Amino acid sequence: MSFPGLDQGIQKVYSSFVILDSRFRGNDILWDSVMTKKNKNLIWVYPPNNWVSNFNKTFVYGSSNPRAKLFVSVEVDQRVCPDIKWGKHIGLPIQIFPNGNFAQVIKLPKKKNVVSLIQILNGKKRILTRTVISMSLRKKRRCMQRLNSNNHQSCLPQVDRYLQNDIVIVIDPGHGGKEYGTHSSKGIPEKVFNLQIAKLLYRKLTIENGQLRIKKHKIKIYLTRTKDKFVSLKDRVDFAKKKKADILISIHHNALPDNEDPLRHRGVGVYFTHGFVKPFAKKLLDSITKETKLKKYGIFKRDFAVTRPDFYHGILVECGFLIHPIEGEYITQRKIQKKIVSGAIKEILDLLK
Ligand SMILES: [Zn+2]
Repeated sequence: MSFPGLDQGIQKVYSSFVILDSRFRGNDILWDSVMTKKNKNLIWVYPPNNWVSNFNKTFVYGSSNPRAKLFVSVEVDQRVCPDIKWGKHIGLPIQIFPNGNFAQVIKLPKKKNVVSLIQILNGKKRILTRTVISMSLRKKRRCMQRLNSNNHQSCLPQVDRYLQNDIVIVIDPGHGGKEYGTHSSKGIPEKVFNLQIAKLLYRKLTIENGQLRIKKHKIKIYLTRTKDKFVSLKDRVDFAKKKKADILISIHHNALPDNEDPLRHRGVGVYFTHGFVKPFAKKLLDSITKETKLKKYGIFKRDFAVTRPDFYHGILVECGFLIHPIEGEYITQRKIQKKIVSGAIKEILDLLK
């Protein structure tokens, strides 16, 4: 996104960012994350604050109650533009998607504006402001706790969830039943290996050295299938939604289209849809390949049904190429499967911190 008339240097750094004013700067817990470009995907809103935008175009996004109405209220900042008369303008509506999320470009009258995001819910008006979420789920929860203890009233349905409930991980073994996926050189279908790894992951996440890990880390773990049965992609996503998943990890093994040279493609691939999942995808790839000595096939942005929802960290792992004569044999060994799982677990637990 580009902002005409804006100093090139600033434009480079802030891109689609709203610059927060000094009143917000006092809020040290979130300031660092807010100002770094790499974290810009991770925004939610909380009351009560206004911000000063340095652009005549800006971008708001976050999450709200889907039943609410959202408006942007704009005022030219009289402190910086005393010569401009611009009354308070309420009424730039923001479209909220059914899942409560919103993202919209707003046009502002001048470069310096006091911008507020106003939520109307059940006839009550509230000013929402924004902050950033590129932090672990635990850290996010701690920030929310601090904000709440500072008598900030929370406006997000998810916030209560972060405060009260365990973090939910859904493990999704790809394919199943009539859907075989690809096959190993020996003709064993991918769905079998996917389930093996998913179950290993489930067990390792649940119990470690005989101790109940789920209790220590306050997590809940579910599998989308526990046996060889067909589950549609929609049902997998619906299940994750019902369980209020924070993380969904789909397990697969890779193959190639017929016209590709199967010997040229090797390694672990990690797929995601949303930018806020990318850092996790990268760490997961690093960790799994380090543990298993498998090659890195790479991380890829794809619009897969199971990674598309943005209410969780959706990730799809292709644990190497099943069709590769050497790699296919290697990745289906129990001891390597265990290494894939322990590599993954390190990063999952890190995300939970
Ligand atoms: Zn597959």
